[in-house]
Amino acid sequence: MDNLLIQSTHKQLQAANRILVVSHIRPDGDAVGSLLALGLALQSVGKDVQMVLSDGVPRDFRHLKGSDKVLTWPQGDFDYIAVVDCSDLERTGSALNGYSIPDLNIDHHPTNLNYARLNLVESDAVATAEMLSGYLPQFGLPITKPIAEALLTGLITDTIGFRTVNMTPKALRVAADLMETGVDLPALYQRTLLSRSLNAVRYWGVGLSKISANGRLVWTTLTLEDRQQVGYPGRDDADLINVLSTIEDTDIALILIEQTDERIKVSWRSKPGFDVSQIALNFGGGGHKTAAGAEIDGSLKEVQSKVLNMTQSLLSKSSN
Ligand code: AMP
Ligand code: MN
Ligand code: MN
Repeated sequence: MDNLLIQSTHKQLQAANRILVVSHIRPDGDAVGSLLALGLALQSVGKDVQMVLSDGVPRDFRHLKGSDKVLTWPQGDFDYIAVVDCSDLERTGSALNGYSIPDLNIDHHPTNLNYARLNLVESDAVATAEMLSGYLPQFGLPITKPIAEALLTGLITDTIGFRTVNMTPKALRVAADLMETGVDLPALYQRTLLSRSLNAVRYWGVGLSKISANGRLVWTTLTLEDRQQVGYPGRDDADLINVLSTIEDTDIALILIEQTDERIKVSWRSKPGFDVSQIALNFGGGGHKTAAGAEIDGSLKEVQSKVLNMTQSLLSKSSN
């Protein structure tokens, strides 16, 4: 990252007093971890910080220090607004309603729209948490054990335990440095990536029983009724997409998750060479080349048909 941009950010953060930090809706480990890391680090040098996630902190991450301080709505005025791990402003949900454009955007999505006054975007970073691990010391901010735990959470969730195709030696070095603060990595790994509720596994069962395949594409659907049937409390896929993406001889896996009668969340995962972020972008979403998502208006049937058509056409183009 350009040193001048880092220096400018450092000066701005030093001058700021009331700081708002936000991240994206349906927060994942990188959203929560990056938000907490920046928020806690700024608090530790005496800043008045508010951390806001419009969907709140998911249960899986509530053990992280500071997560009980995260609000779903900002309160009061701020002289500095920072957004982390968020490729466009719409993804902040209602967190910035009524506020001016953010001062700072720290993110690693190649589809980032550079919406802030100052944009630190590194698309080769495996997680926003990796970027912050480098930036915090450059901003004169400490990385204590709770901050390292938040950052490691971002690193291991976005890389699904250091195994996504964008993994780099740098990411492992950053993780090793964070571990030096005393974080119990195996315990964190178990808690955030391996352990899941019985309801979540039953929910997987429903999704897996409906799996379809066409050539090198596999997909399934999860409906409101499916969630009701098994008592799954979230409105996500309980990471079932990561199971679909392990199926051999497939290039793209996708999952359609009904949000309402008229809105569907879609997640794509692909092998290198199949850029699903472009399909997601076409539907108003975004993400990375091999992992992308979008929320699309329409019934499950309508959205499924459009999404499958467009994904099939990417597959045929790419394999020609
Ligand atoms: P998901 O499929 O939700 O696990 O997301 C995969 C990747 O796509 C992540 O990097 C997300 O941040 C990104 N992503 C998911 N949904 C959206 C969206 N609606 N807009 C922009 N990026 C998204
Ligand atoms: Mn994220
Ligand atoms: Mn991320």
